[in-house]
Order: sequence, then structure tokens, then C-alpha cells
Amino acid sequence: MRDDLMIEAIAWELDAKVSARSAHAYKSVGHKLAYFCPVEECLASVSLGEKSNIYFLAPDRHVPGCPNDSKRTGQASVPGRPAARPMQVVEEPIPSHLGPPAGFKKKLRLPSREELLQLARATSVTPVSHFGTLREVIKAWKKMRSSDRAKFPLTISGHQMNYESAFQFIGEADRNIERLNFQERIIFGQAYVEEWGHCFAVFSLYKFTVEGRKLSLRYTVNKKDNPEDLRSLVGRNVTIFLHGPVPYLSPKGDVLMLKTDPNDKYAGIIIVGQ
Ligand SMILES: [Zn+2]
Repeated sequence: MRDDLMIEAIAWELDAKVSARSAHAYKSVGHKLAYFCPVEECLASVSLGEKSNIYFLAPDRHVPGCPNDSKRTGQASVPGRPAARPMQVVEEPIPSHLGPPAGFKKKLRLPSREELLQLARATSVTPVSHFGTLREVIKAWKKMRSSDRAKFPLTISGHQMNYESAFQFIGEADRNIERLNFQERIIFGQAYVEEWGHCFAVFSLYKFTVEGRKLSLRYTVNKKDNPEDLRSLVGRNVTIFLHGPVPYLSPKGDVLMLKTDPNDKYAGIIIVGQ
């Protein structure tokens, strides 16, 4: 029995084990999927619970002794109630994918016990699917010891990589920006922040050679469109993480510009103070 919350379950339609947060992401776009306890002896049907955390619970309860049964429900008179401690802290799952929840084929019936058992076995050796935003992926990367990064899988645009191989240091460009793969990898490097009237400008310290000139990569953002945190980074060195948009030469040819969509949570630029 567990005294924390159940945050992973098998998703029948996805043929995968998913995090409760990803299940919530599916739900929020209108997909009601079938979820099950991944313990082979149990396989109880579970659904999403949401209080201050997002977790799975078994309305018809787990089998006795299932490790996903909560302590409180073990002896409780109310079956299936999760050990919902409203302020309980759930460790954020490490994203296995950068991007929105993947598409899936609708299944017309629920699985048989045998099918579920096979899925439980298959998914017991694969990492749990958790679809993260660019910010969440970078947060997880920063938290990891660099020697551990290769152990954690990360899929970007269908390419299976890990937290080491998916990140490319800006210096690997060897001054040629075309050597950086902005669309399939996350590019990172040092930059500094300046305040320019009504906007903030972020310059890479690393310079690229373009048509014989040494150019920085520059990102500017209007103050009114910008999170407050850039203000505190003015005049400081920062780390930038870039994914998706490819920088382009400014009309004057004096800088490499970057245009991002502020509403895209899965691509763009993340700026982190050092
Ligand atoms: Zn169970």
C-alpha cells in the first residue's frame, strides 16, 4: 500500500503507461481514455482524481494488497477513496516527450484481462509517457546530474533521444549556425539581457560567422508581452534554450534574429538566470 498518490496508469488507447498529468492533458482536450492499474495481479480500472494534485484512483478499488492501494483505503470503510491529502506534494514527472499529447487510434471496446496483462507486462519495462512543455523539459534537464542525462529518454518530433543527446550546445556550431538543429534538438548557450526602451533584448555570447561577419543571435520581446522575470535578468548573463524556430539574418545583415510564438508552449525560447 502506498501513502503517496498513484500517478502512473496504463492507458488502453495509447498502449502505454502514462502520467496522471498527461491523462489530464488528454482529458482537457476532450479525450476520455480508459486507464488501468499497471500491477499485473490487480489491473483495476482507475480514473483521474483532481484536488490540489492530479492522480489516479480506483472507483471499484484495487485488489487487496495492490501496492497502488492507498494506506487510507486499505482498511477504510469507503472503498476506492484515495489517500488525498490536499497539500501533498507530488514530484513532477520527468517528461519523456517534448510536445502535446500524441494522437491515438480510438478503440471500440474495453480490453480483456488477457490483453491488459500483456499491456502491463510490455509497459513495465518502458518509461512512463509524460508529455512536457519546453519549460518542463528544461526544468527536468537542469535538475539532473549531467552524468545521468543519457539515462532519461526524451522524444522530440518522433525522434527518440535522451536528455543528453537531445540537447546541443551552441558551441558545437563551430561558428556555422546551420550545424545547429533547432527543429529536432534543444540548443543551449550563454546570453545576456539588455533593456531597450519598450523591450528587452537577449543576445547570445556565442557568435556565428555569416558572410564574413561575426553575428550574435538576438531575441527581442516587448515588455508588455514579457513575463516579469526578464526584468530581473537585465545586465546579467543567462542561459538560453532554443527549440523550433530557426534564426534568420536581419534585413540589415547585422544580427541573427529569432521569432517565436508566445502561445506555443512546446517551442520557442526559455531564458534562465545563472
Ligand atoms: Zn492496483
